[in-house]
Amino acid sequence: MKWQPVDCHAHSTFSDGALTIDQVVERAALLGVQPSVADHISRDVARTIDTVEEVGYYLEELEHHPVLRGGEFCFHDHLWREIPPEMVKRFTHRVGSIHAVRLGDGTIVRAFSRRVPDGLDANAYMDAHLDYLETFAREMPVDILAHPTLIAMTFREHPVDELWTEQRETRLVNALHAAGICFEISNRYPPHERLVKRAVDRGVRISLGSDGHTREQVADIKKPLAVARSLGVRDEELYDPRRHGSKTGWKGDGA
Ligand SMILES: [Zn+2]
Ligand SMILES: [Zn+2]
Repeated sequence: MKWQPVDCHAHSTFSDGALTIDQVVERAALLGVQPSVADHISRDVARTIDTVEEVGYYLEELEHHPVLRGGEFCFHDHLWREIPPEMVKRFTHRVGSIHAVRLGDGTIVRAFSRRVPDGLDANAYMDAHLDYLETFAREMPVDILAHPTLIAMTFREHPVDELWTEQRETRLVNALHAAGICFEISNRYPPHERLVKRAVDRGVRISLGSDGHTREQVADIKKPLAVARSLGVRDEELYDPRRHGSKTGWKGDGA
């Protein structure tokens, strides 16, 4: 069978996406992409799966469709720690997100809010972000770090070279490498190419993600795939849970 890229990160109406599971599958087929659904599973997202019981319903529904079964879990939220091991195994892969950074004093700085504590400048924030990312990589048994360059809104307009110094980029790729977590090339929050190259050079596996919520976005991973190829990543090396397995222990069922 001809190789097809996997969109490891897409949303459906189970969380904040606009498409049903059937529509995700249909859209991916049209674009020649292997579909997966990775809906929000967290208590700290507006439209989300927010109980263990609902996770069960979600998995059961996905099991009735030809689709890989992912989930996007907020690291800072507790829900992922409550999923029983038997349920974890039903996920074909799991995506971890740093949608908020917890500072040393316990304060939460959310990525999708403009509110930041007084006196927290871009440099201090980025250092805290990398501290938190290292904790994430040590503690969270996920296969993929979603949108690795997503940061708090207030600091997004800062020059990328000031935010992402060589030292910070190195900390990021080393943490992922040590934990065996893939670096996602997100179509929604595209990382700067120097960082992707650093991840590739370090031997971190690359994953493609549309992070799509609408019909136009779901399974659109043309640009991420082009970036990976331009950096010399072979198609077969791109993360595919069916080929590379998952920390969930899922063994493949021909999905
Ligand atoms: Zn996200
Ligand atoms: Zn997402």
